Amino acid sequence: MKRKPFLAGNWKMNLERKSALDLARALRDAVGNSSERDVAVFPPFVYLDEVVRALAGTSIKVGAQNLCDEKNGAFTGEISAEMLVDVGATTVLVGHSERRHLYGESDELCNRKLQRALAAGLNVILCVGEKLDERDAGRTEHVIGRQTTLGLKGVSAEQMSKLTIAYEPVWAIGTGRNATAEQAGSAHTYLRGVLAGLYDERVAQALRIQYGGSVKPDNIATLMAAPDVDGALVGGAALKAESFLGIVRFK
Ligand code: PEP
Repeated sequence: MKRKPFLAGNWKMNLERKSALDLARALRDAVGNSSERDVAVFPPFVYLDEVVRALAGTSIKVGAQNLCDEKNGAFTGEISAEMLVDVGATTVLVGHSERRHLYGESDELCNRKLQRALAAGLNVILCVGEKLDERDAGRTEHVIGRQTTLGLKGVSAEQMSKLTIAYEPVWAIGTGRNATAEQAGSAHTYLRGVLAGLYDERVAQALRIQYGGSVKPDNIATLMAAPDVDGALVGGAALKAESFLGIVRFK
């Protein structure tokens, strides 16, 4: 099955107002309304509103990097799903490895966040990925299978149309050491099998699985040629228009 490529840029805690808007405008001018590929950016919370406005009228989607698992109330420092919708975000990352490993987010917390996002009408990119010691111990499939199964607990087959999975091996994120096409393809094919088991073949085939981890303009085409790789979640190379566009326009 042919799935539309989905290229997403996670700006993490980088850029300030001017460089964030300059980047958004450069992407707007280059991508415009093109619909061949899905493109999304994930700015820091405080720039969401302005980036949404800068990209209005284009096909580029704007998402948040995180959200709170609670609806509203006394949760100092947190941002709710409804607030994201209110400023025009249409999607959100859940379970990015930096949230899981630097901030101790469990599979259960990721599932609550994911449920909260879906209830507010957001699309979700659920990130999964093994650490180096887990890969070395031959536990990659066990780890990403568990993160996917627990992350999607209670999500219906209908709601799966709002989901994307990002396979991001932790050892490849920000290290300059990307997974090989073979490693990525094998993890993605495994994940599609997990999804077919949790739902059915139709849901599994329709869902897009992005690869993330040191994606650059010079390795995107090779990674995209791997089986079951439907797009990329990009960190470092998404911070400059030239490199992100080099990824978006892969041949
Ligand atoms: C990421 O932040 O999800 C990521 C994959 O980062 P990088 O592309 O820098 O490895």
